[in-house]
Amino acid sequence: MSDNLNLHSPSVRWGEKRYHSLDFHLRSRFGEKVYRIALNGGMTCPNRDGHIGTGGCIFCSADGSGDFAGRPFHTISQQLAEGKMHLLTKRPVHSYIAYFQAFTNTYAPVSYLESIFTEAIEDPDVKILSVATRPDCLGDDVIDLLKRLNQIKPVWVELGLQTIHPETVRFIRRGYETAIFDQAVQRLRGAGIEVIVHVILYLPGETEEMMLKTIEYLNRCDIQGIKLQLLHILEGTDLADIYREEHFYVPDMETYIRMLGQCISHLRPDIVIHRLTGDGPKNLLIAPLWTGAKRSVLNRLHQYLKENDIWQGKEYHG
Ligand code: SF4
Repeated sequence: MSDNLNLHSPSVRWGEKRYHSLDFHLRSRFGEKVYRIALNGGMTCPNRDGHIGTGGCIFCSADGSGDFAGRPFHTISQQLAEGKMHLLTKRPVHSYIAYFQAFTNTYAPVSYLESIFTEAIEDPDVKILSVATRPDCLGDDVIDLLKRLNQIKPVWVELGLQTIHPETVRFIRRGYETAIFDQAVQRLRGAGIEVIVHVILYLPGETEEMMLKTIEYLNRCDIQGIKLQLLHILEGTDLADIYREEHFYVPDMETYIRMLGQCISHLRPDIVIHRLTGDGPKNLLIAPLWTGAKRSVLNRLHQYLKENDIWQGKEYHG
């Protein structure tokens, strides 16, 4: 390394970005770009089928937050083939994350989970198995299965925490206590599985201080990745009805960028950032409509981080 290289400069750590991006992480780990293919394992969710609740989380779309996932009546191999074909029309790609996205992807008998997850990782182009689920749907048998699969290919588990604040948890009808999340993280980490946490920013009633408290809480958890997503109000959700009645606060782009700057600055530097904007389906999106221009949002964020000399972990003090 040259003597005049500034070791505190974020570019020394994460390429051209001022944060620990998923792209940087995957390139460092696999030597190339790895693309996500969203899959649908045909499961439902205990927060919808009456086991915990019937309405689901208030923001969840009819597709169980898997609006871009494959079609459940297709096999996993078919869904992977379709996902690859779609990506290959845009760029030369040959490494993938098999991402079980729609609904709760461990809410089924373990024998079924074993068959669909194995089908995914048997594809030689699949480098990682990623499973989105609820922390209260991780029985010992499921964790044992994920641990076994993790010996074959890396397994990530994505947990939808959204917030740590009990009043918001009740409002969004998440349906589990944050202590359940803590236990799930510990058990997954005990099995050697990487944990990614989904957080929603600007849930109704949450202040900037509250959002930062969620980030600070996660800094103390043994997690490896985070998805930060601005709340999307989607057609057909209970949140949409509340929005039409109450018109609760929805930030504009500059406000959101400033908040992201704060989150990034406070976030532990080793945590990989998997997402910084929402990826909601445009045909269902009621607000905030400016999030549809994802590239512009990210460009503005990068510019903002540079202008204000912000990098991931700048305000993180252990
Ligand atoms: S836990 Fe996930 S799938 Fe279930 S209702 Fe909530 S967001 Fe939707």
